[in-house]
Amino acid sequence: MIKQRLKSLRDLAYSARECLLNQVSVPLVVLIYHRVIDLPTDPQQLAVRPVRFRQQLQALKDAFEIRRFDQSWAGLDRPTVVITFDDGYADNLEYALPVLEELEIPATFFITTGYVGSSRELWWDELERVLLCSSGGTTLSRIGPIVLDRAYDCAQASEREALYHTIHPQLKILGVAERESALADVAVAMTGTPEARSSYRVMNVNELAQMASSPMVTLGAHTVSHQPLSSLSVTDQGAEIEDSRTQLCDWIERPVNVFSYPFGDRGDYTQDTVDLCRKAGFIRVAANHAGVVRRTTDPFRVPRFLVRDWPADELLFRLRRFAGL
Ligand SMILES: [Zn+2]
Repeated sequence: MIKQRLKSLRDLAYSARECLLNQVSVPLVVLIYHRVIDLPTDPQQLAVRPVRFRQQLQALKDAFEIRRFDQSWAGLDRPTVVITFDDGYADNLEYALPVLEELEIPATFFITTGYVGSSRELWWDELERVLLCSSGGTTLSRIGPIVLDRAYDCAQASEREALYHTIHPQLKILGVAERESALADVAVAMTGTPEARSSYRVMNVNELAQMASSPMVTLGAHTVSHQPLSSLSVTDQGAEIEDSRTQLCDWIERPVNVFSYPFGDRGDYTQDTVDLCRKAGFIRVAANHAGVVRRTTDPFRVPRFLVRDWPADELLFRLRRFAGL
């Protein structure tokens, strides 16, 4: 009860502050999507169903001005939204692009280049498939370099699910080789695991070129291997940033001047990361903490608003409350 009251007070204070700020600066909100597809299960809640996506975009177009992530945000006349996508899933081309083109809404897609053209799923999807889609398994108490807090009897679905939630945050901060060895240990211990799902793949080079040729699309970099940059040395951070940009530039044969931090929360990048992005010549970089963009917002720490599979009216309600409108 007290917690609930405190939360309501905090929400009220937040809204009042945003309302006040709206008097001096027109609000701009950068939306973050990941997937547009109808999935049987979605434990990370990253997918918006195609029908919903179309309804959401139509409602956004009716209610807000829409700008690009890579254009000037000066001189806004009314509340504005910017559409972005992270990771580069193939469903972005199949389901999102036709809607964007039909409604003439621009969007920016940040691509994890290390998975481009591979049938391999992004590591968090692979973990979900191996643990939550398998039908059985042996007991695990250690995977790769991770010593688990207890033994997990993976013959039982509830234990596989508990293990999934335990190791997801731990895999996030491992290096690529260690992450691979942990995932391999889990895969070997499971039985009845389905093959890699083609609906979970990332776009290939031809598909990226097709995206890039649309007047509605801007492509940006999102590192090679999708590790939190804060977990890497400055040299390795630089390589992840530069290599992803160079690869993407080569594939789409045009400059890439925007970037988004993998995971993107405040602890997932550092001042070094920001300095590297500035030095690399990016004009704007997306983070993934919640916030409204104001005139004073750092262009290398652009906050975003995570969109879920909500009905269009719920999205508008949440967005207006978020922006103090
Ligand atoms: Zn990402």
